[in-house]
Amino acid sequence: MKFLISADMEGATGVTWPADVEPGNPAWQRCRPMFTSDVNAAVAGLFDGGAREVVVNEAHATMRNLLVEELDERAEMITGRHKALTMVEGVQTGDVDGVVFLGYHAGAGTEGVLAHTYLANSITGVWLDGEPASEGRLNALVTAEYGAPVVLVTGDDRACTDAASYAPHAKTVAVKDYVSRYAARCRPPARTYADIAAAAKEATTLAGHQPSLRAAGPFEVEVEVDATQLADFAAMVPTVQRVAPRRVRYTSSSAFDMIRCFKAVTTLISNAIEQDYG
Ligand SMILES: [Zn+2]
Repeated sequence: MKFLISADMEGATGVTWPADVEPGNPAWQRCRPMFTSDVNAAVAGLFDGGAREVVVNEAHATMRNLLVEELDERAEMITGRHKALTMVEGVQTGDVDGVVFLGYHAGAGTEGVLAHTYLANSITGVWLDGEPASEGRLNALVTAEYGAPVVLVTGDDRACTDAASYAPHAKTVAVKDYVSRYAARCRPPARTYADIAAAAKEATTLAGHQPSLRAAGPFEVEVEVDATQLADFAAMVPTVQRVAPRRVRYTSSSAFDMIRCFKAVTTLISNAIEQDYG
């Protein structure tokens, strides 16, 4: 059995504050070992459950957050950014039996610790076929297209609730409970390590199961932003139309195209943000 761990940082143990996840900050340095501990717990649980291969894909910001020198020696890690499938890079090999979304978080405009979708605050909502869509839902569609089910999701309690909507059979571990967007009631790493390892071992029984999301397009995506020039810029991407002053829409025939177009849209949006006015 081969597993892919897509590792984001906002939903990691102990993380509640922007500086905790912003590369270069002292708070980020402090949180990197807790994030790495969550990943190692998942790796250990997956191997306990019979995994023969585990690949970790860094999925946060610069995608250089985890401490490879501390990584369980049985795993391998894709680190660094500019990857074809961004957060779920590695699934396109087609031989992945199960995917772990580790350190995930609720989507933009919803309640959750550090809730957002791709961009920290300029995107105010994302909908897929009319339903609110978090990073977890978007990425789960991509893994489904390659036949790989999501078997485990970790994050705050709101990320776990979100996971139930796109991967209802997946195991979930809440490492903290939502208090506000920047506050949580946190469990210490010693506890979350044990919880994640136990859930990951159980999750191996879901390997190879049919993904619960349909893997066939077309997929219609709408993105709402907090300033009009961001929508203007997003609409420069071929196939993307501005449907309201702060809203764009596009349709893709596959999840592969859907997530790549989403990346193009978010890249152009982030390039059009001005420091104080947004
Ligand atoms: Zn992130």
